[in-house]
Amino acid sequence: MKKIIFFDGDGTLWYPKKTKYSKHPVWVYRDKRIKNHNNHLTLTPSALEVIKKLKSMGIIMVILSTNPSPPEIADVHIKNRVKHFDLHELFDEVYATRPYPDSKGEFILSILERLKINKSGALMVGDSYIWDYEPAKKRGIDAILIKSDYMHEHNDVKNVKDTISQLNEIFKHI
Ligand SMILES: [Mg+2]
Repeated sequence: MKKIIFFDGDGTLWYPKKTKYSKHPVWVYRDKRIKNHNNHLTLTPSALEVIKKLKSMGIIMVILSTNPSPPEIADVHIKNRVKHFDLHELFDEVYATRPYPDSKGEFILSILERLKINKSGALMVGDSYIWDYEPAKKRGIDAILIKSDYMHEHNDVKNVKDTISQLNEIFKHI
């Protein structure tokens, strides 16, 4: 069984209330009229029950959410968002990762090294092939891609076998 699961934020744990899985969530942050992003986001279906269950199974739970702001500001943003959704006690570690695709892979490797967990004990879950799935797979870490209307942004997505439509399908992958 997996010892640690890394979750992406946008499009994985939460998504825009208005567009759900139909449009890439980044629009919420790019829309200058939106002042409080959290008000436009909601947890994805089954997210809370799945997180609680995984936590109760003793799995270490980590959030890796890409954020283009400078590290200190990005960290405050992501931690506020996690608190807004009342997830702060369910996740062991929460990180704003850097705005380049390999960043999550780098975070994963350094966290595994620090916690002395083998790659085989880890899983990455996310809605982006480029930002979540590929950086993990490239380093020999299992990954699951969440299906969305925008998932085919990258051509290689057609080769991905491990996809789920909702987080509650994760249990057959751990
Ligand atoms: Mg995402």
